[in-house]
Amino acid sequence: MPIRITLFGAAGDVTGSAYLLETSHSRILVDFGLFQRGHDKEERNILPEGLDPANLDAVVVTHAHLDHTGRLPLLARNGYEGPIHATQATVELAGLILRDSAFVQEQDVKRSNKKRARSGKPPLETIYNVTDVEDVLGMMTAVEYKRFVEVTSDIRVKFFDAGHILGSASLQMQIQDGGRTKTIVFSGDIGPNDVPIMRNPELQESADLVFMESTYGDRNHRPLQDTEIEFEEIVRNAVKAGEKILLPVFAVGRTQLMLYLLAEMFCDGTVKEFPIYVDSPMAIEATKIYSSHINQFDAEFQQLRRCRPVLEAMKSFTPTPTAQDSMALNEQQGPCLIMAGSGMCSGGRILHHLRHNLGRPQAHVVIVGFQSYGSLGRMLVDGAEKVKMFGEEITVRAQIHTLGGFSAHAGQSGLMEWLEPLAQCKPRIVLTHGEDRGRNALAALVQQHYGITPEKPLMGDVIEL
Ligand SMILES: [Zn+2]
Repeated sequence: MPIRITLFGAAGDVTGSAYLLETSHSRILVDFGLFQRGHDKEERNILPEGLDPANLDAVVVTHAHLDHTGRLPLLARNGYEGPIHATQATVELAGLILRDSAFVQEQDVKRSNKKRARSGKPPLETIYNVTDVEDVLGMMTAVEYKRFVEVTSDIRVKFFDAGHILGSASLQMQIQDGGRTKTIVFSGDIGPNDVPIMRNPELQESADLVFMESTYGDRNHRPLQDTEIEFEEIVRNAVKAGEKILLPVFAVGRTQLMLYLLAEMFCDGTVKEFPIYVDSPMAIEATKIYSSHINQFDAEFQQLRRCRPVLEAMKSFTPTPTAQDSMALNEQQGPCLIMAGSGMCSGGRILHHLRHNLGRPQAHVVIVGFQSYGSLGRMLVDGAEKVKMFGEEITVRAQIHTLGGFSAHAGQSGLMEWLEPLAQCKPRIVLTHGEDRGRNALAALVQQHYGITPEKPLMGDVIEL
């Protein structure tokens, strides 16, 4: 029987990553992420037909982001008993992300059910609960980078640093197939080169088949250095004016990068130290996890460690874990910077800070992450003059800055650099984790450079090797 890989997500889309790999001896799943976009995402966040958790032999996870781990608790709920292989940092971050996912679902369903009860509709249920999450976390076993793990009798996997978030990996999978060994590479999400803290993505050299992400296959990001300079200028001006800066952030990755950049400014003396608040329980926890794995940061960081002040400055932010702490920030006088979720301003504590400050022309809002269409963050980026929050209309007078260079994904040229050594042995290339725009452009470039025509499967398609 050929090796079969069925795509259960991230096919022509950037969320819901999931691959079922079947050989004549084993069945394993690579990632099992939540769909986070589209009006029908609720209907898609189920156990797909053709996937029986009780029949799986192993699960391998590339990194902790919800769009790669968010459906794992469904396995626990439906008879899977383990194991789930991931790096130590991924295990820890997944704990944070999945517990939050169960909590957010419960809150959302409670709210919807109140409305449904009033109109006589039956109540909705969450797709999983905290017990499922704890069960799935109990199945996770930590693996090390660059060391083979035997996941079944005929499959072994090696994890390579993908440079995307802490613990992220690209996978090299070796499969014993008759007398031959076949190699399949799963890129996971590939990080950009030369960003602070994160190591550059590690390269692999040979494969028969490569599954590769194509999120930014059609463009390059603005150079990071330009973005850093712009950020520094905004901070310097706001501090001089004694003003507030609001930074909507994603808890994992972006918060830690921004803390690092601020610490660097303090140490270089380009900006005088001023109060920084991390107003998100999840970001506070994620920062603790990052701090306990600094041996995995890049060489530049290792060098800076010797310069104690940066490390000290990175720790000098004030956590505001409780809602009361958070509310007290409204009364804060003088310059300060508040980081809070959600990253797209679609919920969370950042909403309260925006409500208090959007109407003030002196306040600054700095957007440093991707904003999907329809989110409040996107409206601010697009220059909305008025926005609706908590049932009231607020006129936007604050200064909105959009900084585009902080992506955790490689741009087009970074993706091509990652592929370069692999392409030499002319593997089959399958482009996933990208919308048509990204993956069509990358496919054309790969064809032009290497004479390989990448495949662009859709949801439910099967690749045979
Ligand atoms: Zn990711």
